[in-house]
Amino acid sequence: LKKKTLTADEYVTGIFRGDINILSQAITLVESARIDHQAMAQEVINRCLPNTGKSVRIGITGVPGAGKSTFIEAFGKFLTSEGHKIAVLAIDPSSERSKGSILGDKTRMEELSCDPHAYIRPSPSAGSLGGVARKTREAMLLCEAAGFDIILIETVGVGQSETAVHSMVDFFLLVQIAGAGDELQGIKRGIMEMADSIIINKADGNNITRAELAKVQLQNALHLFPPHESGVEPKVMTCSAYEKTGIKEIWENILHYCSETQQSKYFDIRRSEQAKYWMYETINEQLRNRFYQSQKEQIREAEEKVQHNEESSFAAAFRLLDNYFKEDTKL
Ligand code: GDP
Repeated sequence: LKKKTLTADEYVTGIFRGDINILSQAITLVESARIDHQAMAQEVINRCLPNTGKSVRIGITGVPGAGKSTFIEAFGKFLTSEGHKIAVLAIDPSSERSKGSILGDKTRMEELSCDPHAYIRPSPSAGSLGGVARKTREAMLLCEAAGFDIILIETVGVGQSETAVHSMVDFFLLVQIAGAGDELQGIKRGIMEMADSIIINKADGNNITRAELAKVQLQNALHLFPPHESGVEPKVMTCSAYEKTGIKEIWENILHYCSETQQSKYFDIRRSEQAKYWMYETINEQLRNRFYQSQKEQIREAEEKVQHNEESSFAAAFRLLDNYFKEDTKL
């Protein structure tokens, strides 16, 4: 059965109505590589823009096993019980290889995925990190236009994807567990510096004392870092996603952060910087893609010449670029 294709109007009104089905289809459009899909997606996003930006955007990272998805389930249920509508998105550039290690498997958030006030969307399938991240940012805007007032973006704490998430959220939460040293948890200093707060999960059973100790140690370690550019000192908190303890305090901390940074204007400055950042990211991604796509043959020939010392690497590079931009302006 062929699905009826929607018009831009139908997408936009559907999204504004909060129609999850249409929202999902619009996100699929955003994720599509087809030129006509992309054009439609951009039209839909542009028309949704006036209704975006009214959510709290929260990034969540931590190594596999730290308890991110269990935490998101507990945190998400708490938020919906407080009357919020939450969307959970993910950035996992490896998801095609690992068949969607994040959120691919719905059973990981069983309760939350049945909650009518929660929308869970797995990571766009693999591509360049820049591409995956851009799609997630656009999906986030569509979710906001559909009325979700809290967006959670999950990523695995192992690579560069943190930087991508950090550049699209208001608040960045690092999930740690007690007992493992920082090295063991694979958390780089840069990620600690990015965090607006650190939570030590699994503070339950006979792990409570260790978690409390880790909290003090981390808080002390953070004092050695340069002051946060937000002007708000990152807080270290313990919680148990299992026993649902410490969850409310984490939300209160986020609200405190939002009100402080809204007052200082940092909140809006960060968002406008992010919008600018994504424009440049997209330009960089597109320049690269378009150049390599359109100059395949010329690049192959130049490669030969360079390898046989018939042309210098620099001369070849400049010749290819000059040629590309000349061609482009002719269009
Ligand atoms: P993720 O890879 O970071 O998403 O981690 P998961 O949420 O899949 O959790 C990894 C493991 O830790 C699972 O076996 C969870 O049941 C367990 N876990 C998660 N949260 C808690 C917690 O608060 N307390 C305890 N004791 N175990 C937890």
